[in-house]
Amino acid sequence: MRRRLPWSAVTTPATTRARADVDLAPFTTLRLGGSARRFVDATDGAGAVRAVRAADTAGEPLLLLAGGSNLVIADSGFEGTVVRLASRGVEIDGVGVLRAAAGEDWEAVVARAVGAGYGGLECLSGIPGSVGATPVQNVGAYGVELSDLLLDVELYDRDSGQTRTVAAAELGLGYRTSMLKGTDAAVVLAVRLALRPDGLSAPIRYAELARVLDVEAGDRVPAPAAREAVLALRRGKGMVLDPADHDTWSAGSFFTNPLLDAGEVAHVLERIADRVGGDVAVPQYPGGPGCTKLSAAWLIERAGFGRGHAGPGGRVALSGKHTLALSNRGGASTADLLALAREVRDGVRSCFGVTLHPEPVLVGCTL
Ligand SMILES: Cc1cc2nc3c(=O)[nH]c(=O)nc-3n(C[C@H](O)[C@H](O)[C@H](O)COP(=O)(O)OP(=O)(O)OC[C@H]3O[C@@H](n4cnc5c(N)ncnc54)[C@H](O)[C@@H]3O)c2cc1C
Repeated sequence: MRRRLPWSAVTTPATTRARADVDLAPFTTLRLGGSARRFVDATDGAGAVRAVRAADTAGEPLLLLAGGSNLVIADSGFEGTVVRLASRGVEIDGVGVLRAAAGEDWEAVVARAVGAGYGGLECLSGIPGSVGATPVQNVGAYGVELSDLLLDVELYDRDSGQTRTVAAAELGLGYRTSMLKGTDAAVVLAVRLALRPDGLSAPIRYAELARVLDVEAGDRVPAPAAREAVLALRRGKGMVLDPADHDTWSAGSFFTNPLLDAGEVAHVLERIADRVGGDVAVPQYPGGPGCTKLSAAWLIERAGFGRGHAGPGGRVALSGKHTLALSNRGGASTADLLALAREVRDGVRSCFGVTLHPEPVLVGCTL
């Protein structure tokens, strides 16, 4: 059931191409998933709106897809219309406000902004996928989240059938979530971001990045330096797409870091002390009011799942570079991937009493 959103239109001529029975696997970074009954390529915003309206009028199930880097699609595919968002257009005005169409490649937009002398986006370098999906899960990395820079989004609200601008504060942006995630209630058509015209990075908050840059937490550095450091760190973890490297045939981090209240943390720390010893340093981070964030990767490793841990038939495995990424080693199915994900989730739960939750959007399947 679609969630109703509190928003209220503009439509212009459309550009779309429709095809039947399209294999979805090549449109995902996991290279997994069955076929879509109908697949529409929307090469501009108006085309996207028209395709979504047509599906809604026909009562047809709808799946929005862009870069396919945060989607796990069932082997049975999608019995409905998939609208692929491929609109183009990026501009930066004189005061550093960047506006980009939903279908633009996120990493290319970051490269362009940094290359043009603006700061703010450098820590979000190397994240695969589209501009339009970035508010959906409030993408974040290396101490920066999209919400730090997002001014507003233009979106098409499927309930009201209208297009309008919605301020970032109205989107319910949180840790790897928003009111758009998993709902398909609205189509993001464009985003506007406030960049830093001084060309410096956001304050470096992530300890590993500060170490590599040889700066103190809170320092700011030239944005290109931070971007290069982030890209190098990401490559080392298999978090930059590389078709030749199966470790990157993934959806990035498969599980979010668990957010726990004080009572839950105390209980989990006790379980960890029983299992791996009381003197071990457990990574803990502030997780918002009353909450602590634990590291899902640390919990996975301590529960006995090392890098490269293989799932069914060796067709899927934890990445050889990062235990949080589940990867397709070739010839895998979504069922294989989910079997591995369940093994890891259940293993962590039985060791430490923490239930890990998937970060990607699951379509036609569950964990
Ligand atoms: C190697 C790798 C590394 C990654 N690293 C990170 C990281 O560091 N941080 C991070 O946050 N994420 C990361 N991700 C996850 C992913 O890249 C992001 O979530 C990205 O924003 C998804 O973009 P996409 O265009 O591929 O979305 P898709 O996978 O195509 O779609 C994801 C969801 O968003 C919806 N959606 C897509 N476009 C729109 C739109 N225009 N309007 C409304 N809904 C839409 C889809 O319906 C779907 O539910 C990583 C993924 C990979 C494969």
